[in-house]
Amino acid sequence: MTLTQEKTLAARVRADFPILHQAIHGKPLVYLDNAASSQKPLAVLDALRHYYQNDNANVHRGVHTLSSRATDGYEGARDKVAAFVNAAHREEIIYTRNATEAINLVAYAWGMSTLQRGDEIILSVMEHHANLIPWQFVAQKTGAVLRFVELTGTQDFDLDHYRSLVSDKTKLVSVVHASNMLGCINPVEDIVAIAHQYGAKVLIDACQSVPHSVVDVQALDCDWLVASGHKMCAPTGIGFLYGKKELLRSMPPFMGGGEMIADVFFDQATYADIPHRFEAGTPAIGEAIALGAAVDYLMAIGMDKIHAYEQELTAYLFQQLNAISEVKIYGPQPDAGVTNRVGLAAFTTGAVHPHDLSTILDQAGIAIRAGHHCTQPLHRHLGAQSTARASVYFYNTREEIDTFITALKEAIEFFGGIFG
Ligand SMILES: *Cc1c(COP(=O)(O)O)cnc(C)c1O
Repeated sequence: MTLTQEKTLAARVRADFPILHQAIHGKPLVYLDNAASSQKPLAVLDALRHYYQNDNANVHRGVHTLSSRATDGYEGARDKVAAFVNAAHREEIIYTRNATEAINLVAYAWGMSTLQRGDEIILSVMEHHANLIPWQFVAQKTGAVLRFVELTGTQDFDLDHYRSLVSDKTKLVSVVHASNMLGCINPVEDIVAIAHQYGAKVLIDACQSVPHSVVDVQALDCDWLVASGHKMCAPTGIGFLYGKKELLRSMPPFMGGGEMIADVFFDQATYADIPHRFEAGTPAIGEAIALGAAVDYLMAIGMDKIHAYEQELTAYLFQQLNAISEVKIYGPQPDAGVTNRVGLAAFTTGAVHPHDLSTILDQAGIAIRAGHHCTQPLHRHLGAQSTARASVYFYNTREEIDTFITALKEAIEFFGGIFG
């Protein structure tokens, strides 16, 4: 993609995001914290407002007009999400509050009831806390054992080490598709195929891949996949779990209550079929509908276009950061076509503490994240207390990266002057 085309895409979409057009401390906002949460286009905000203004009612239970509109919107959005990740059946999509809840659903409904002492769960050292703590719960309760795939010398997923860990004891492999700290894209097709040779199930944490590229659950052949709406232009409070139909059907309920039942007696009940078995209580109806609007919005642009544009931006971000000698970036360097990583860079700068850096950049209108990014064991593993992280989405521009780099250099010079 050429520079002019790139400008066209960013220029075309930026008007859709009202929040981007504001000043922070008197400077134009440069939002580079997209790996933590994305901004929302008008189409999504409008869908939310339209629902509450015109159609608000509870789903499934009512026969009146508003209830049937709410139900149509809610179930229609499920079709959109199913198409977005190419699920074979719409009931393979379960709405959750976020990816965290989706992983907990699998951990409680499947893990707690299926795993036994000595069974092994393979994770990697780069997992987000959301894909670690629930499995610690399961291990503590069932006696299952957690094993961790290490990194290669270039800080990628070590596929050879993974191969050496998988065995007949392996019952689950739960790994991140694209790391929210290292930025690497993991070889999930291989990971799934190897696990399946041993009859193990595979869960993919797709929080950092689904918003940025085409993700096809049938091509991956994963057993479960999770993502959060708020990182893909949708509101907070909505995310989803994909699971293979028969597998989901075999799982007992996670939470009990309304919506998830078939027939209820005082002392027992039978449960609804999927997806409703796993959607107890009144769901986030407006948010689910807005997630559908986000999917429409992303698909209208084209995930391939979004991906290609972000590859360009990522190459540029790395080129600029690599030119600053004090900057140390974690994770693999982008390959020639930027096919091996997503558009984020976690880094340290020597003299400037990441939190101080984030505070200084905020004064210049620039939003980046500082901390352990919910990957504390990974930071410890890499010998870093915390890192700063800049992350792009398709509405970011090269000019914004320039603004960020200029402010970063000034901060390093300033602190270098004090401590150097
Ligand atoms: C954001 C993120 C999560 C958790 O998402 P929530 O929306 O907080 O549930 C899990 N894994 C990765 C890789 C993430 O980036």
